Amino acid sequence: MGTARLPVSATSIKEDLNSFRIAMRQFDYAAEKCGLEPGLCEVLRRPRRALSLSLPVKMDDGSIRVFEGFRVQHNSARGPCKGGIRYHPNVTFDELKALAMWMTWKCAIVNIPFGGAKGGIVCDPHKLSRNELERLTRRYTYEISPLIGPDKDIPAPDVYTDAQVMAWIMDTYSMTHGSSAPGVVTGKPLFLGGSLGRNEATARGCLFVIRAACEVMGTKLNEATVAIQGFGNAGSIAARLLSQDGAKIIAISDSRAGVLNHSGLTVPELVAYKAKTGSVANFPGSTAISNEAVLELQCDILIPAALENQITLQNAERVQARVVVEAANGPTTPDADLVLHNRGIMVIPDVLANAGGVTVSYFEWVQDLQELFWDEDDVNRRLERIMVKAFADVHATARKHNVEMRTGAYILAIDRVANAMRTRGIWP
Ligand code: NAD
Repeated sequence: MGTARLPVSATSIKEDLNSFRIAMRQFDYAAEKCGLEPGLCEVLRRPRRALSLSLPVKMDDGSIRVFEGFRVQHNSARGPCKGGIRYHPNVTFDELKALAMWMTWKCAIVNIPFGGAKGGIVCDPHKLSRNELERLTRRYTYEISPLIGPDKDIPAPDVYTDAQVMAWIMDTYSMTHGSSAPGVVTGKPLFLGGSLGRNEATARGCLFVIRAACEVMGTKLNEATVAIQGFGNAGSIAARLLSQDGAKIIAISDSRAGVLNHSGLTVPELVAYKAKTGSVANFPGSTAISNEAVLELQCDILIPAALENQITLQNAERVQARVVVEAANGPTTPDADLVLHNRGIMVIPDVLANAGGVTVSYFEWVQDLQELFWDEDDVNRRLERIMVKAFADVHATARKHNVEMRTGAYILAIDRVANAMRTRGIWP
């Protein structure tokens, strides 16, 4: 480990949890390791452009509320920008800058022809009516319309946005452009140009890299125990797919509660229970466990699948998993990364572990442009090929440079993006 991520000696050190500075620190470290020239380093450290918006919305009671929104494009050297839209009360501009940068690396790692972007609105969608959410989404789409488009920047779902939100985005963009443009967003409902397999893609991608990691570590997935933080799209589907592969899901948490059963939770029942009650809390046959304790459980595979900065200097020493698979974006801080690495715990970084989502988003975009749709087996087979190759590429790069998997992933991605930039040249 080089000095760019150090020093770190004690858990008393106050960590910088600003996502953008974390993303830059990870980038700087890898850029130094692969000897990236200073000029390109300066370009790639920051977003290409960003839009900051005030979004007035007429609420159901007739009042007007103004929401803050953003769209950030980090880099488009390898193709149109691509990245999700997050609706969350704690969304910040810096967080979206980090997420946009991570998207650039992610697309490069799975070698799909996209750059990176991310957007978001500071709001709590659970406290908005469906009509308010629709008006907010349409206003946001209208404001970012000059930046987005099937060959410019293609949004997708992220935390607390879904296929319905994508349908409103597609409709608003199409209405203002005078023709139907399904390729402007991915993660759409199937009957509006969505792809089979997109809903499960992030979790299925995780499954493929977990299988590959098990092979490298000599672990049998059907004997492995798994703890998962977050029970939304990524977390709940990962739980289902892993349990179908024979793994034992011993703990799961959501934003309200956590549940534990050392003999294994029955995932389909837990999914149905959460759909009915709104939370995993008090799931029959389980005992309660705190969200923090889920991360520190004795298990083979730990999957953070919620939000950023969950494994930090405060708890990294207590993580007992053999491998951490980052379904979420940015769940491990750089200092915690170092602690895990020193303790021999493999971290499969977000830019690889959750890249299945953007990969099938790419498939969706390709199908929309071709107006020719694939069956689900075809989607899953292509996804598996890409994820298995990406894992092997990252693993080989990490070995070659004698670094952990995250830095290996960054080196691979930086090399691909920098190569595109060098070859295209800096305009004018
Ligand atoms: P989601 O909205 O479907 O689910 C989020 C889940 O996290 C919910 O179960 C929620 O209860 C839980 N949660 C929120 N705060 C929590 C907390 N403090 N502790 C424990 N649980 C908490 O979102 P998602 O799409 O599953 O995204 C989860 C993560 O995966 C995010 O970091 C996202 O960026 C990343 N990701 C998602 C996709 C995708 O295709 N959905 C793709 C790549 C990355």
